[in-house]
Amino acid sequence: MRLKQDGMVIELTDQDELIQLAANADRMVTLTGAGISTESGIPDYRGPNGVWATQKPPTLGDYESNEEARIGFWSFRRESYPMMLERQPNRGHLALASLERAGKLLGIITQNIDGLHQKAGSDSGRVVELHGTTHEIRCIPNGHRFSGLDIQARLEAGEIDPHCVICGGVLRSATILFGEPLPKAALDHAVAMSQITDFMLIVGTSLVVNPAAQLPLIARRNGAKLAIVNREPTPLDDKVDLVVRGDAGPILSSMIDGLGLAVSSAS
Ligand code: NAD
Repeated sequence: MRLKQDGMVIELTDQDELIQLAANADRMVTLTGAGISTESGIPDYRGPNGVWATQKPPTLGDYESNEEARIGFWSFRRESYPMMLERQPNRGHLALASLERAGKLLGIITQNIDGLHQKAGSDSGRVVELHGTTHEIRCIPNGHRFSGLDIQARLEAGEIDPHCVICGGVLRSATILFGEPLPKAALDHAVAMSQITDFMLIVGTSLVVNPAAQLPLIARRNGAKLAIVNREPTPLDDKVDLVVRGDAGPILSSMIDGLGLAVSSAS
């Protein structure tokens, strides 16, 4: 993009354009996906090292009716949850937390279940977790809630298919399983944010999972500018105002620099 300033034509880089879009926004919202967390050591789904091929989660039907599927799920979780707890937010998460603190970001809609936005200092009331969170466990019949740490202790003590200590019901992670609708309150909140934003920054998502992939289109219909920061092409690249190709951490932290904001440290 070219800009005329004081009679001179200046060539703007993609990074400059991103800073300008953010600077001009009054109601900025971000939509994040697994790609924002790869720099924290959590693999994405569809990238080259993604978990898509290696560890497909069970469908809801499988999980509820099939004890073997649940035992497989809890066994994987017993091994993987401690690593999830050790993961720390990276420069991308921290940059978004800084934007929010500076009053520049209304909120984050995330497809991630890892809790790293909150760990970076983003206000949990402003983070909409469309696909749930791995840090909570619920019982299926009555919705009793337990922390991931409580259930981890039971798994490590030898339980292979833990049940609810209150009602005896089957327990599950508070994350969306395949074939399951999104939680209505989270989806309604995300749609409302998409309707009021004037700039949606889309980070680290392949934009192939619906309904999350529809949110940028809702924002666009309501007049918002859109920018994508992603390593690989997405199906919406030709429908947005700007695509910045590359790693989210460095791109978002230099956006913060360009806006004259300090990157916050994790809370
Ligand atoms: P995805 O795996 O389909 O796509 C990730 C995208 O991010 C890819 O296009 C990839 O090129 C890009 N990417 C990877 N690292 C990047 C980086 N450092 N900077 C910029 N771009 C980067 O992810 P999705 O669209 O979020 O959909 C996957 C589904 O899997 C979601 O529903 C999510 O709930 C779940 N998931 C979550 C996590 C997590 O919580 N961290 C991890 C894996 C999968």
